[in-house]
Amino acid sequence: MELQAKLGCSHNGCTFCGMYKDKKFRVRTLEEIETDIRMARLYYQDVEKVFLADGDALAMNTEDLIHVLSLLYQTFPGLRHVGIYAGPRSILEKSEAELASLKEKGLTVAYLGVETGDPELLDEVNKGVSVQEMVTAGRAVVRSGIKLSVTVILGLAGRDRERSKRHAESESRNNLPDQGRCISGCYRWICRGRRSLAVSALAIILGLIMAFFFKRRKLMRA
Ligand code: SF4
Repeated sequence: MELQAKLGCSHNGCTFCGMYKDKKFRVRTLEEIETDIRMARLYYQDVEKVFLADGDALAMNTEDLIHVLSLLYQTFPGLRHVGIYAGPRSILEKSEAELASLKEKGLTVAYLGVETGDPELLDEVNKGVSVQEMVTAGRAVVRSGIKLSVTVILGLAGRDRERSKRHAESESRNNLPDQGRCISGCYRWICRGRRSLAVSALAIILGLIMAFFFKRRKLMRA
């Protein structure tokens, strides 16, 4: 279930992102969020996973966030995971104790858009933080015990091979903690993009083979 803790993105300035360009940023009031949780209870009965939206919902005041987490866990007995989009600036603005109490209250995973480890490129896409700040933010999440899930954008450097190489091999990849495996079972960040591409290509090939056999079977029946 997706719960709107905020509307839009407080930064809303990344050059590659059009997600919230037409949405005016606003933190929703606790009353609004509580009403949504009550309605969700009536509609869904119970949920296992909740995602706190929109972009960078971690920018919400920590006390309010803790209140929302407690209410969610009280309302849904089957709740196991609460995820959140976490902008690097919002992570850095929270103390270690605040992040730890969010973890204790049931915030299980934070999604951080690292985008690239190339300082020049990160600046160019107007992410709003330096590579070092990004690494510090990522490490703070890991230390708090909240799972960290990061996104690095494949192809962000465009067609320039040298820039792409820098993007792929850049320092933040080496400095961010290896908290776990990526979905394809590999520890190395650089592999994530390549393996995802391989998985997609495999899915397309399988799809084409199946379509071929279905068509053939149909023709034989006709
Ligand atoms: S911080 Fe995230 S949601 Fe906001 S503009 Fe950048 S990529 Fe988009």
